Amino acid sequence: MGVLYLEGGAMEYTGAEYHCWRCGRLTTVYTWAGHEMWGKAAPPPGKPASIKWIYSRTAEGSYWANTCLHCGVVIGDWYLYDEPGAPFAVPYTDQLN
Ligand SMILES: [Zn+2]
Repeated sequence: MGVLYLEGGAMEYTGAEYHCWRCGRLTTVYTWAGHEMWGKAAPPPGKPASIKWIYSRTAEGSYWANTCLHCGVVIGDWYLYDEPGAPFAVPYTDQLN
C-alpha cells in the first residue's frame, strides 16, 4: 500500500489508500504533520472534507478522524496507526525501537 501525496493540495497532508472496513471500497485517508492518535489539535488549512470532528467512545472524547469518502463511516485512528500493516503505522513503530 503506497503512500500518496495530494496533488495541488496542502503539503501538510499525506494520503494513503485504504479499503473501508464497512463498504469495502477504496477510499483515501489522510494524516498530517504534528497529528497524534486521537489528536484534538485543529488540522492545518486545506483540510480534506473527509477529515471530521467526531465523537468516539473508544477515544473517550472527540477528535479529528478520517471518514470514508463513499459511505461516510468513521475510520478510527486505531485502523490507521495501531494495526499491523496500518498505512501510517511505520513512524510510530520506529519510535518504539
Ligand atoms: Zn465506506
